[in-house]
Amino acid sequence: MIFDAHFHLKQLLEVSPESADFIKENDFFGFCSCRKAEEVEFVENFIAENPGTAEKLKITFGIHPQAPEEKDLHTLERLISENRIAAVGEIGLDRFNEEFAQTFELQKKLFAAQLEIARCAKLPVILHIRKAIPEIFEQIQELKKIEKVIFHSYSGTAAEAESILDHGVNAFFSFGNALLNGHKKALEVVKTLPENRILTETDAPYQPKKGESFSKPQNILEIMEKIREIKTRQTDLSGDLWSPAPLPQGSLDFVSIKFEQARQASTEAGEVSRSDGGVIIDIMEDKHNGLKENVE
Ligand SMILES: [Zn+2]
Repeated sequence: MIFDAHFHLKQLLEVSPESADFIKENDFFGFCSCRKAEEVEFVENFIAENPGTAEKLKITFGIHPQAPEEKDLHTLERLISENRIAAVGEIGLDRFNEEFAQTFELQKKLFAAQLEIARCAKLPVILHIRKAIPEIFEQIQELKKIEKVIFHSYSGTAAEAESILDHGVNAFFSFGNALLNGHKKALEVVKTLPENRILTETDAPYQPKKGESFSKPQNILEIMEKIREIKTRQTDLSGDLWSPAPLPQGSLDFVSIKFEQARQASTEAGEVSRSDGGVIIDIMEDKHNGLKENVE
């Protein structure tokens, strides 16, 4: 299965209409991140118009820290009550630049409120965190109460990731083209973290591969390969150097199984799967490939 823990369908199809075929034709499963009700409707319409995609695409909605608006809390609550979203996100904190830093107090307030809403609704959360790791630790008790926490585009350190896990947060760390672009910290974290804590994502159409103008779900194949390469090399070094190392039973399989179960369960229950996503915390490194403006 090709698993994309975080991408933006509406914005993706605007620049890459052919990605719709890729999604339809492959064993694909992904979380479509929406920050406005109109985007949710866009994904719902896409699903309605494209038979077979209901099982491939799950909708997430959250108040993005780069556009914190209190009134959107009502939208979030409404979408949850109408059973239209599978996770809350992307939500979080961003003080990457001056403009974002100015709304930081409001961001904190909305982040806390959305964590509470997610906890009550028993939904996973998807987090976008930039330059705000200390504040994540301030919220650690709240994060522990949430079933799954996915750190989207994680660019914190391995030690911070381990600490989050040690605190008892059911956290998953999601990586995309940063790995292909040679992002040292991300590569290090993938090397260090247990495989069943690693997820793949594109953040499409944002965060492209070097030399490309946008990212797309097709990139997942290369990202998966990169993770396998990192993990296999480790297996090689720790085991018999001359025997072929098996492909790691890593996140990719783990996630497939996990979401396969979720899909089956939701089909049986006749409702959208609500509790099998994760909180995605988006921690992007400041100077990464000049994509500052493009991190969503
Ligand atoms: Zn995003």
